Amino acid sequence: MAFEHDLCIRGAGIVGRTLALLAARERLRVALVAPPERTPGHADVRAYALSPASQALLQSLRCWPAESAATPVLAMQVQADGQGHVHFSADEQGVAALNWIVDVPALEQQLAQAVQYQAHIDVVSAPVAAPLTVVCEGRASTTRTELGVDFDTVRYPQQAIALRLDCERPHGQTARQWFTPEGDILAFLPLGGPAGREVAVVWSVADERAAQMSAWDDAALAAHLHELSGAALGALQVASERACWPLVLAHARRWVGAMPGRAGESFALAGDAAHAMHPLAGQGLNVGLADAAELARVLGAREAWRGLADLRLLRRYERARQGEWLRMRLATDGLQLLFGQPGPLAGALRNWGMTLFEHSGPLKSRIAKLAMGTV
Ligand SMILES: Cc1cc2nc3c(=O)[nH]c(=O)nc-3n(C[C@H](O)[C@H](O)[C@H](O)COP(=O)(O)OP(=O)(O)OC[C@H]3O[C@@H](n4cnc5c(N)ncnc54)[C@H](O)[C@@H]3O)c2cc1C
Repeated sequence: MAFEHDLCIRGAGIVGRTLALLAARERLRVALVAPPERTPGHADVRAYALSPASQALLQSLRCWPAESAATPVLAMQVQADGQGHVHFSADEQGVAALNWIVDVPALEQQLAQAVQYQAHIDVVSAPVAAPLTVVCEGRASTTRTELGVDFDTVRYPQQAIALRLDCERPHGQTARQWFTPEGDILAFLPLGGPAGREVAVVWSVADERAAQMSAWDDAALAAHLHELSGAALGALQVASERACWPLVLAHARRWVGAMPGRAGESFALAGDAAHAMHPLAGQGLNVGLADAAELARVLGAREAWRGLADLRLLRRYERARQGEWLRMRLATDGLQLLFGQPGPLAGALRNWGMTLFEHSGPLKSRIAKLAMGTV
């Protein structure tokens, strides 16, 4: 069968659009299945911590937002519930920035514009036949279910609450994170460029407390965050709506396979459709972008005689990315286990571990490089 497109990408989130642009660069003809328009007024309040590897990838596609929407992070301060703390700095690591805090709507807009001007990409409203279908529909993917791929899911008893705050004092390009005795994890991510006074908040809270907090008004919420953050940025004001996500650790059992009932067609999963993790280490999208980069590389480097539906080809992608996912899964799940536990014993262990880590020299440097995606 002659196909009009080489690739059908289902899901036009950040991973789907990035993959479409990378595949088009390899001169593949792409059909990108876009979801219905978001309801106006419901922009994503999140900001993502993106690694230098993700920044280089998006910059190579000319999709990196302006500095006002992609704040370089020069320092990270992590504070346990007692004396334990860890401090990372770009200077110490010999890099221009540890990572960048990127405004989600600004990045989505850059990618949408680039897709619009790329002649090899057709944005379509329903899936089309192609030798390779790539599922980038996020963690609740329905196509993954239709394909019969199991998604092993462990639900953390926590929700992530996201919102934005205006602060009395500038953030000084520092990302801050606090671990509380109750097992909550609060992060303030700097926004608005180097001189900015706005932060994106990601607050992982036990389910019951998240339900109680939904009744708080903005003033009560700001006062509580002011107290939890030790007044680090002065007085705080809520500057957005709040959004909430249940937290899971999940992965698909298979990332590639033959399309059931469609001879000569195969599928691959990428991004949150293949894996989802706790946001405490800010790595989910970084891993998804690396999936897109690896899949495009494998497809672009295939032997001239190999078709895009060839499962041996697709398994090269699956092997490479499942190994990386396993490493990241162990790291973030381990951190969640250590930091998400309430009680004095877990608290003492956290404080002791962080003090030890802060003075660990090469180990600390290696972990910083892992988080930056530079090893
Ligand atoms: C609170 C929070 C904070 C986070 N912070 C960070 C961070 O700092 N750094 C980081 O790297 N990661 C972070 N993440 C993870 C990050 O949000 C995800 O990894 C990322 O959004 C995954 O992108 P995706 O394109 O795979 O999926 P999604 O963003 O879920 O996009 C999927 C797209 O597919 C569309 N779609 C769904 N079903 C269909 C269908 N049937 N047909 C067509 N289209 C469909 C959807 O509408 C959507 O546009 C965070 C996550 C949370 C919850």
